[in-house]
Amino acid sequence: MDRKPKSKEEIFEELEQYQEKDMKYSDGRILGSMCTEAEPIAKEVFYKFINSNLGDPGLFPGTKAIEDKAIKMIGSLVSIDDPYGHIVTGGTEANLMAMRAARNYARRYKNITEPEMIVPKSAHFSFKKAADMFGMKVVEADMDGYLIDVNSLENKINKNTAVIVAIAGTTELGLIDNVEEIAEIAKKHDIYLHVDAAFGGFVIPFLKEEGYDFPKFDFSLDAVCSMTIDPHKMGLSVIPSGCILFRDKKYLDVMAVKAPYLTKKEQSTIVGTRSGASSAATLAVMESLGREGYRKLALDVMDKTMMLKEGLEDIGYDLVVEPQLNIVAFYHKDIDTDYLADLLEQRGWRVSTSFYPKAIRVIVMKHISRDNIRDLLVDLKAISYNI
Ligand code: PLP
Repeated sequence: MDRKPKSKEEIFEELEQYQEKDMKYSDGRILGSMCTEAEPIAKEVFYKFINSNLGDPGLFPGTKAIEDKAIKMIGSLVSIDDPYGHIVTGGTEANLMAMRAARNYARRYKNITEPEMIVPKSAHFSFKKAADMFGMKVVEADMDGYLIDVNSLENKINKNTAVIVAIAGTTELGLIDNVEEIAEIAKKHDIYLHVDAAFGGFVIPFLKEEGYDFPKFDFSLDAVCSMTIDPHKMGLSVIPSGCILFRDKKYLDVMAVKAPYLTKKEQSTIVGTRSGASSAATLAVMESLGREGYRKLALDVMDKTMMLKEGLEDIGYDLVVEPQLNIVAFYHKDIDTDYLADLLEQRGWRVSTSFYPKAIRVIVMKHISRDNIRDLLVDLKAISYNI
């Protein structure tokens, strides 16, 4: 650190030079991100609540009430009237909280000392972090294509099974597990069921309303104990905004530790000091868009998804699966996928590749316009001709 303070102008000039190196969502070139430009109201509100610390809610009862209202509103999207939970930093923290709750519950009420989590290969890597942090063994569910093979799920259950994880909107392909059937198995064996709807949670409910034929995936299934659903993905809130919802307070209680010097004497969250601004921004964006705004968004991104899918098929690319949500994964049978990704990068696109299976993965977020898709298809066509 320099001895002398710098002026505001100098500081901004320096920071802006760094910022110029960043990609911007508005360029429409970021193809592999589940985050997007936050709604203007979310940004404004975020700044207004920048000093609120929900780690000490007794000092910020107003912001705490905002968090409670945001949780209830998110719950209303996924069939629960009075959920418990928190606005957290993102899907990772939400999944960590769910796994910690499931482990502690299993330990306290079922005497499970060597807890196992049954997780599909399609799950986000945050579950590996949870296993590592909470001393849990990962048992991989068998797959039927790219979804959990429900028929073989029971074979994976044993006396140590603490939790089953199902995904509503997989990270790589945007697919929705058959949560309805998985819930029946979880219920039969009395096992905690967590649904990771970090991506799908702000899309599936609105597409369902429009008649999309998706399985039940939410708290309408009584075996579902918790759900991750991220406002900073399809919720159009600011980063960092994730959300963990629990069906029952007992899942927060099993994680509670004493917090002697704070206004509330117990804390269940993983982090201590935590942003109240994320809660305020998330509530603001939900109130500003309303169900109508999210419904329009969901339909619009699905329309663009179909445009991309059809365009790809027309120019000789293959899809890994029919998109269920706004994610398209594709490859070319004659071009190595990593090489294809390099060629796209050279043309200014920022793509990501999926691992299972290897493919280019485009998440058709709000910031990707129809013109961007047309340009991408032109580049992909040129690449395939030059091979
Ligand atoms: N769960 C799913 C299904 C995801 O797709 C992701 C991120 O892509 C996460 C969890 C982790 O979310 P975050 O990066 O916000 O921690």
